[in-house]
Amino acid sequence: MCKEIRRSILAFSVVFVLFILAVVISEGVNSRHILGTYPERISVAIPDVVSISKPSPEAFEFQTSKVATWLVRLFLSFAVPAFFLFSRLSAGIRAWAVKRTRRWVSMVVVYFSIYSFIEILIYFPVDLYTGFFRMHSYGLSNQTLLQWLVELVKGFLVNTTVTSLVIWVPFLIIKKSPKRWWLYLGLVTIPYLFIGSYVQPVVIDPIFNEYRQVEDVQLSHKIDSLIAKTPIENCQVLQVDKSRETNQMNAFMTGVFNTKRIVLWDTTINYLNNEEVLGVVAHEMGHYLMGHIWKSIVIGGLAGIIALYFVYRLSNWFIRKSNGKWGFTGLHDVAALPLIMLMINLLLFVSAPLSNAYSRSMEIEADRFELELTRNNFATATATVKMHQQSLAMPQPGFVYMLWNYDHPTYKSRVDFANDYRPWESGRPLKYGKFIKGQK
Ligand SMILES: [Zn+2]
Repeated sequence: MCKEIRRSILAFSVVFVLFILAVVISEGVNSRHILGTYPERISVAIPDVVSISKPSPEAFEFQTSKVATWLVRLFLSFAVPAFFLFSRLSAGIRAWAVKRTRRWVSMVVVYFSIYSFIEILIYFPVDLYTGFFRMHSYGLSNQTLLQWLVELVKGFLVNTTVTSLVIWVPFLIIKKSPKRWWLYLGLVTIPYLFIGSYVQPVVIDPIFNEYRQVEDVQLSHKIDSLIAKTPIENCQVLQVDKSRETNQMNAFMTGVFNTKRIVLWDTTINYLNNEEVLGVVAHEMGHYLMGHIWKSIVIGGLAGIIALYFVYRLSNWFIRKSNGKWGFTGLHDVAALPLIMLMINLLLFVSAPLSNAYSRSMEIEADRFELELTRNNFATATATVKMHQQSLAMPQPGFVYMLWNYDHPTYKSRVDFANDYRPWESGRPLKYGKFIKGQK
């Protein structure tokens, strides 16, 4: 390995170790802060205002475990592609695939399938621990090991199939335009993301779960009247059978154009009262009305072009310096996939605080809309507490962990916001009055 590559690996390792140190220190500071300031028990001092008590010892323990496994995954996201490169395993798989296929496209698909399979084997122990054993030890999962394994295999097959359909596209673009591919690839990615978001709820999601109309008739009527207060038309609100997998609660908005829909996990309906569920629906309606999905696709796509430019510059630097030692001399060679993945993972790591901050800003706005529509601060706050306590979430994590992992605001800040935000009480204008009938 040449001197420059060795130096850059060393420099990165030092930065990574310092990063781990920063994470550990900030978690320690945060735990002390929580232990010192949060009350043991909630006292309802002021009616309608919800306060948060000290998290349980299990929640502290769970947070420590989450931090540890996140760091392990982060390490693997760099180490695994580096292993494929430095061991020349990648070039070996490509050579094997070339011998067994006639067409270039099928060679790329075979290479990618083998790459993905080895990758899933490497990640299997961490996935098994975080997705199955840890979930059971904290009472968060209802799955048997067999069910969990079936879901894993299903996910792998769906993912590999869907990616195989398009994985050859970037390599073709790189081959045709070695200097401008990052721009063209970034531009074609945006319509691909739209198509993906369009078909996801109707083609992919039903492979994993069952989606149906909200069964509770009374709740369903209440949801309809809530929607009738807004300009939303023909909005599907569905429930999904998550209770067979987990005790956790959630809801989400998905799809674009006419596949847009709001989905409630059935656990959310089972564990929350109707007022709280309506708050959750209103939050998702906020995402719906503000077009958060299509905005994220466009902004993500444009950010993707910048990211791909860096991938282009960095990868070519590594290829030049590697001098063919990794078994390939150009980025259009599918054997360069781990190098591209390594660069992408590096950029995702560097940009995570920014993309999470963007996501958090959208979530705050959806919370604001929820409150303006329902004006039920208490239900918003209690739903937030219940959903997070059920998942053993910390009211606030360490600062570094928050920056890199929180695409939603901390639940402490969401509860504070729900308690405080009441512009209608003092006659101040609503920010999203234009989305609420009869308001300005
Ligand atoms: Zn949201």
